Amino acid sequence: MKELETDKAANFIAAIISADIKTNKHDGKVMTRFPPEPNGYLHIGHAKSICLNFGLADKFNGCCNLRFDDTNPIKEEQEYIDSIMEDVRWLGFDWEDRLYYASDYFDRFYEFAVFLIKKGRAYVDSLTADEIREFRGTLTEPGKESPYRNRSIEENLNLFERMKAGEFPDGTHVLRAKIDMTSGNLNMRDPVMYRILHASHHRTSDKWCIYPMYDFAHGQSDSIEGITHSICTLEFEDHRPLYDWFIDELELDCHPQQIEFARLNLTYTIMSKRKLVRLVTEGHVRSWDDPRMPTISGLRRRGYTPESIRIFCDRIGVAKKESMVDIALLEHCLREDLNRRAPRVMAVLRPLKVVIENYPASKVEELDAVNNPEDPAAGSRKVPFSRELYIEQDDFMEEPPKKFFRLAPGREVRLRYGYFITCVDVKKDDNTGEILEIRCTYDPETRGGNAPDGRKVKATLHWVSASHSLEAEVRLYDHLFTRENPADGEEGKDFTAYINRESLEILNDSRVEPSLKDALPEGIYQFERLGYFCADRHDCTGEKLVFNRSVTLRDTWARMQKNR
Ligand code: ATP
Ligand code: MG
Repeated sequence: MKELETDKAANFIAAIISADIKTNKHDGKVMTRFPPEPNGYLHIGHAKSICLNFGLADKFNGCCNLRFDDTNPIKEEQEYIDSIMEDVRWLGFDWEDRLYYASDYFDRFYEFAVFLIKKGRAYVDSLTADEIREFRGTLTEPGKESPYRNRSIEENLNLFERMKAGEFPDGTHVLRAKIDMTSGNLNMRDPVMYRILHASHHRTSDKWCIYPMYDFAHGQSDSIEGITHSICTLEFEDHRPLYDWFIDELELDCHPQQIEFARLNLTYTIMSKRKLVRLVTEGHVRSWDDPRMPTISGLRRRGYTPESIRIFCDRIGVAKKESMVDIALLEHCLREDLNRRAPRVMAVLRPLKVVIENYPASKVEELDAVNNPEDPAAGSRKVPFSRELYIEQDDFMEEPPKKFFRLAPGREVRLRYGYFITCVDVKKDDNTGEILEIRCTYDPETRGGNAPDGRKVKATLHWVSASHSLEAEVRLYDHLFTRENPADGEEGKDFTAYINRESLEILNDSRVEPSLKDALPEGIYQFERLGYFCADRHDCTGEKLVFNRSVTLRDTWARMQKNR
């Protein structure tokens, strides 16, 4: 099969790294890391960061670490850690033996803090959280120094040690860096380094009751691990001076370079874990891996392949400017990948019975069907044809409008791989008028789909044999939100106001061709004329077939590109 992937990681960050290698900065080495906080499942935005960090390491013969940024004991859980590892691996990346936890460095961080206190660069502050906020000032007004700012080094050491020993309740003291309360950058106005939190940590248990803040943990973790390029999203740009300040003041040998890029935003979905958590806990979706979720596990369950996500991350590129990517591009990348690999099968989502009056009741023919026109090596299979079939309800109209070329009374169409059939009668429910069954005749001369006399038909329909087909549940998905950017809604409206109530439709009586009997969980198929579908990895079992529609065949992205 043809490889779809293009040049990995040709972007402005790669250019910076190339230049660093030329000047032998960091001895010409490249070390990156992917540093998730285990407070939720990974989403497609994280995939961008994963592809970037692992991709750059790969491109420059370096290494990429997986590091859990687990400095907040309150929101973090083992379930998230497990899911993150599974997702990174599934995406196709390998951290080998380089799995780290910021919590493994808690002792080092503590020593670092003591070092800064001794240097006169950190102090224990006893203002309340509200006072600290008030004293910080604003973008237009300078901050005010805390009355505790000039405590002696001895007093600071003593208080900090007692904070660690658990002598004080939460919120009574914090450790702050002594930088500049008048700095134009609010992050430099004596940022908090440590806070008291009497909470059990999922890895260190009750060993600590003081926990470092993100800014005091992240850069130091990078430095400890010998990271050369610390790649993060744009919101950390204003934190970079602080990142550098800590590493310089701590006099650490390894000074990683922080480089920021724009996070991925996608239309019709949301990306913040804080919001994704709400979708799950408030029951708007079924689970973290609900196929409507932008989580990696949700995309996987929907039928996305690792390749399609990697191609997508490659296509969107890496920039310094915030932007919104059209979700149609993500779908386009999936289609492109599945087109070359998904076997074609026939399935009827909303069945309508067709009886072929001149076809013998006892006869069954095995017709040849091509598995994948994009891949001759995929071969062919047999599909049973018999007197009673199902076609799609949508493919028949009793009174067809002008542009409807499919089946209608008196009209002839082709059945894929089968015969031409002509509709001769329609059976309806006397009371409701509902169409119950279509009566047709077939032309035995047209087997395989062509008429020896050269006559043409305007439509080819997919179908399944009624008695040979299998029952299946099919789940159709649409965008999770009705608004392009749900996070930026009308005044006073929560993002949940824009949840698409029709984002899931479950069809209980679909029929699929018998070759799907042994569909394996995560098996991917093109249901001819309908779209790509995958067997649900949890619910599709030997007892019951369940398919998720991954994406339709209609490529809105390709059409948009053409009309530009
Ligand atoms: P969220 O805002 O969704 O909670 P986060 O940034 O808090 O995300 P982390 O677990 O801290 O989540 O993220 C791990 C890494 O993934 C970070 O380096 C972060 O910059 C990156 N990342 C997070 N969201 C995106 C995104 N939408 N696009 C690109 N990278 C992202
Ligand atoms: Mg974060």
